[in-house]
Amino acid sequence: ADIAMYRAKDLGRDTAIFYVSEMNARAEQRMHLENDLRFALKNNEFVLYYQPQYSVRDGRIKSAEALLRWIRADGTCVEPDEFIPLLEETGMIHEVGAWIIEEACRQLVKWHKAGHDTLRISVNLSSLQLKDKRIAQLILSMIAKYRVPAHRLELEITESMLVRHGQGVEETFEQLIKSGIRLAVDDFGTGYSSLSYLHRLSINALKIDRSFIEQIPGNANSEAIARAIVGLGKSLGLTLIAEGVENRQQCAFVRELGVDYVQGYLISKPLSARAFRKLLDGHPQDNPLPFMCTDKVLVNG
Ligand code: C2E
Ligand code: MG
Ligand code: MG
Repeated sequence: ADIAMYRAKDLGRDTAIFYVSEMNARAEQRMHLENDLRFALKNNEFVLYYQPQYSVRDGRIKSAEALLRWIRADGTCVEPDEFIPLLEETGMIHEVGAWIIEEACRQLVKWHKAGHDTLRISVNLSSLQLKDKRIAQLILSMIAKYRVPAHRLELEITESMLVRHGQGVEETFEQLIKSGIRLAVDDFGTGYSSLSYLHRLSINALKIDRSFIEQIPGNANSEAIARAIVGLGKSLGLTLIAEGVENRQQCAFVRELGVDYVQGYLISKPLSARAFRKLLDGHPQDNPLPFMCTDKVLVNG
């Protein structure tokens, strides 16, 4: 009965589910995964990968988005979509999340000391972390510990999180913004767009979701949505970032629309810290990516 109840809750409550024996296998699988996650945390199996965000204006790396990976003892790499929901359900996200913030600060300062001192880091926050009243204090203590300039840290929060907790987290936002930390709305356009938070909260940046970028140029609806998001963002004075840019046509299109930064497989997949450092060293300030600046604009295909 307990297993059936959990299944019903997974499906969004307000439903009736009968127990069937296959559910046992699922529950067992979950229990194993939960045990493995606890082991992973204790044994330092979590690592951060970093994906560059490039300025379309000058082709330089402006920021690194920290993305969580789980490297198991046998060397297999588990993607976050497979285990973050369970970290959230078990409450482990608080501990792992605190580690992510600390690790990102520690890594950023290392890169700054190596001469890449204008680099910014973006860290994804889970909605459970955001609901925690102590989160602002935790983040502020980390940037103080590692002496990270506040404006070099950007926090990514999804749109649905803002809509769900908008009112409850205003104090947290105020504390963070007052310190100079930047806030970006992740996966913009995919939540239950209540735009009221855009003028209530001091957001700095919008990240246009990959699902819109995927179908441009060519799909008139996606093009129109991307154009509208850029228009909205620009008129609110926000920085615009295009996620999931996989080819030059998409890159040229979003650049022509007025997007500030691009991130995606066209330029780089998420990289280990060591590989990211190589990329940084290979693209010093005077050596931007050539196609970013010189490609012909392809807005009309
Ligand atoms: P996100 O924050 O929207 O991250 C972008 C995701 O898109 C990453 O997947 C990245 O690898 C992927 N991506 C980037 N460029 C491309 C591209 O050109 N094509 C395609 N097909 N994909 C691209 P990843 O690393 O698997 O992360 C998935 C999601 O998991 C993230 O979405 C974020 O919501 C969550 N996540 C990742 N790391 C963390 C973390 O440290 N904390 C929290 N709370 N959530 C995280
Ligand atoms: Mg993100
Ligand atoms: Mg995203």
